[in-house]
Amino acid sequence: MNKKEVDNKGVFIIYTGGTIGSMPKDPNDPDSPQVVVSWEKFKELTPQLAEDYLHFKVDAYSTQPLDSCNIGPKEWKEMADVIKKNYNDYEGFVILHGTDTMVYTASALSFMLKNLAKPVIITGAQLAFLFNVRNDGFQNMITALQIANPKYSKIPVIPEVCIYFGGKLLRGNRCRKINASGFEAYQSPNYSPLGAAGESISVDERLILKLPQGKTFTTQTRMEKNVVAINFFPGIQDGDILKNILSDEKLKGVVLMAYGAGNIPTKTEVMQYIKEVTDRGVVVLDVTQCGGGKVELGMYETSALLLDVGVVSGVDITPEAALTKLMLLLGDEDMTPHEVALKVQQNIAGEQSLSIYTTEFKSKENQVDTENNRVRIPAADIEGNWETADQIDRIMLRFRNGKIQKKSEKTYVDIKLFINIESNETLDEAGDKFLGTFSRIPNDTPTILFFDITEKARRLLEKRSSFTVVMASEGFFTWDSVELTVFKKETI
Ligand code: ASP
Repeated sequence: MNKKEVDNKGVFIIYTGGTIGSMPKDPNDPDSPQVVVSWEKFKELTPQLAEDYLHFKVDAYSTQPLDSCNIGPKEWKEMADVIKKNYNDYEGFVILHGTDTMVYTASALSFMLKNLAKPVIITGAQLAFLFNVRNDGFQNMITALQIANPKYSKIPVIPEVCIYFGGKLLRGNRCRKINASGFEAYQSPNYSPLGAAGESISVDERLILKLPQGKTFTTQTRMEKNVVAINFFPGIQDGDILKNILSDEKLKGVVLMAYGAGNIPTKTEVMQYIKEVTDRGVVVLDVTQCGGGKVELGMYETSALLLDVGVVSGVDITPEAALTKLMLLLGDEDMTPHEVALKVQQNIAGEQSLSIYTTEFKSKENQVDTENNRVRIPAADIEGNWETADQIDRIMLRFRNGKIQKKSEKTYVDIKLFINIESNETLDEAGDKFLGTFSRIPNDTPTILFFDITEKARRLLEKRSSFTVVMASEGFFTWDSVELTVFKKETI
């Protein structure tokens, strides 16, 4: 066992209650309902927290001990404030927490703690150790304390909010509670465990977030509470409930827990209700209600309807992370709802595998050359912070209210796209500015039209880029506005 190190700052515990801090109400009746005990009582019954046992110092702060069902933004702010106050004085932090809302707390804190360079490990218990000899809580707590003290444990510093539970170390904002009673209560379906604890503690360094270089730790804790998660189910499209929820004037954000890859009923009324809220400035984020996988919204025309009504994509974010991220971004008084809608699609703390960057072109200034059936979309600064072309997963050019009409009998209309061509420049399909020919069936009703230009644009896209649209003689193409979306890979 490691010996006490002189320069080890120890770990700071935030005790919030939950099963890990519970005992039967009547000490003489083990079957009486469990209640959470005070931190003083918890400490008194846990001599192993002494420095002589742990080989490093442990100090603590207690919120009002609660069943975690009663935890919310007020307590998340309290926890973030406590971490900020004690940030420089400890190697890391452990939060003892009830299991029910642990994932929400982990997600909220991952967004609240900015430029985190120390481990924040959240844990709890399915079976409390204060009165059960057979339990999971004790191992969970001791291992979490050791993970939060990388100097002592000789493991890499994990600059993240994690959940350690049942032998697994997981990124907190990727977790879901998947078992109400088993000792392996959590999984992170879309991201591999960061580490494991068996005979020894191992951490996969490739998976953990990079240390924030040269940036100072800070917190952002203001949260908007007028948000709602709507879990779609067959039948919701036929009643008034959806309309009633969405028409609440206080509503600021919605997490649409959609089917599969982000689909919801396409019934006109449903789309109309959603359009009404997005027009009002409510941010609507589409996530999947499945246990894992991602929303494909915005990648293919099949989900164009949702984009048409102003919904944005959560990619592979969990509903818990989506909700808390939305609460935090909407809580930022300096951001407009439109800015939030753009920002919520981008990774903040490792919660999603892709970030979506949207560049809106000023299409009113389109340079139209009717003679040659050619329209130049003037250059704009392209949003996004990728460094190499390999980091780009996909690039889509989207035309809102796009309508293609044909002049001849041909079933398809060919649309040719070029990048970074001057208005009087000759077009060369063999040249390196040609993005391709896209054959499209003419459409009667305007909709969002997508062009997947990844293959060529991945290497040709510059920090400031323009596009030129050329229609083959058999048709013409009109639209209201153009945007470019770049999907950047955020994980290895
Ligand atoms: N209801 C308890 C809580 O979340 C359950 C637990 O801790 O496991 O506080």
